[in-house]
Amino acid sequence: MHIYVHIPFCLKKCYYCDFASQGLDEFAGGAPIDEYFAALGAEIKSRSEDFEAKIARTVYFGGGTPGVGGIDNIVKILDLLKKVYRFAPDCEISFETNPKIFSDKDYRRMLEAGFNRISIGVQSLNDGVLKLLGRAHDARGAEAALIMAREAGFKNISADFMIGMPYQKGGFAHKTVFSDMRLPLLEHISVYQFCVCDNTVIASKLDKGEIIQPGDEWMAEEYISVCNQLASMGFTQYEISNFASGPDYISKHNYSYWLKEDYLGFGAGAVSTVKDIRRSNYRDIRAYTLGVKAGAYFDTEILEPREQFLEKVMLALRTTRGLTKDMLPGGSFEILQKNPGLKKLAKQEFIDLSPAGLTLGPKGFMVMNNIVLTVMDSLASGRIAHEQK
Ligand code: SF4
Repeated sequence: MHIYVHIPFCLKKCYYCDFASQGLDEFAGGAPIDEYFAALGAEIKSRSEDFEAKIARTVYFGGGTPGVGGIDNIVKILDLLKKVYRFAPDCEISFETNPKIFSDKDYRRMLEAGFNRISIGVQSLNDGVLKLLGRAHDARGAEAALIMAREAGFKNISADFMIGMPYQKGGFAHKTVFSDMRLPLLEHISVYQFCVCDNTVIASKLDKGEIIQPGDEWMAEEYISVCNQLASMGFTQYEISNFASGPDYISKHNYSYWLKEDYLGFGAGAVSTVKDIRRSNYRDIRAYTLGVKAGAYFDTEILEPREQFLEKVMLALRTTRGLTKDMLPGGSFEILQKNPGLKKLAKQEFIDLSPAGLTLGPKGFMVMNNIVLTVMDSLASGRIAHEQK
């Protein structure tokens, strides 16, 4: 079992973000931080039965920027989780943060409270790009945060970056070059492909032609280049966007999602999946806090076996372990092996189709959606042919 805790507050909303989060400046009369943490505590206490006797193997505080809710509140929630649920002795306990908010003392407090992994949203070490994205920090601040976290004693530090960034009209696109960065040693790096979400500041600037987004070819080149750079720096890719400096540093929490393991999500917008039941908490902060008081703050859906199977296939293909033969019902993998479309993709080196399974590398990840569709079509037509026999 895994636990996710959502803290939906940020210093300010980044221009590209459509996560369930709000900048502190968006609340007239102040952010309802105390009410939120009271509701979060009440939700956690009320759901201990969802956990049965299972043990928490990972705990992840994400957002938003959890620290914006105040370290005292975060530590109280972690202590409450420890009281209500059982943590494995080697439980991975992570939190996300923005480089701007914590001092060295704050990092030490988080470590002392029991957090043993930290994920810092760096995104870029180019000040022009950070400004265009509306990030609250600059490049020097990001470097300083990574050093502070290390000096505070964190031994498992991850940094998030983005590629395929937009640029000002009349300017130049910026490519991520890790070797140019003065990065302190990191255990983990996530590299996300920039995408435009509706109703964001960036979307409207793109619509008006004020900024330009590089095309797919640029994105593909940058992605392959970044994968090669990280490999030469000693990082092993284990998922489309994730790279670890060794097997001990693979994010256990994130990997649990790709393996479709059970998890409980607490807080506004958090999702829980236990067996075939998925429950999604209300995303709106007020609807969530009032809803917890009234006992009505989430929607539930039952996942059909076919839907679960499709999810499992899609998630497996995101990882470098890929879709293994033993994940599929008897005979299904042989159907994939005979599929002409997949054979062609293997010949073109987009996929590796071995007797053990189907895997993608950086080249395949760039066209993953097409590969997933081909795999799904092949499995569906194989099933129909089988049923017609
Ligand atoms: S810090 Fe993260 S969650 Fe907050 S607005 Fe920026 S991208 Fe969104």
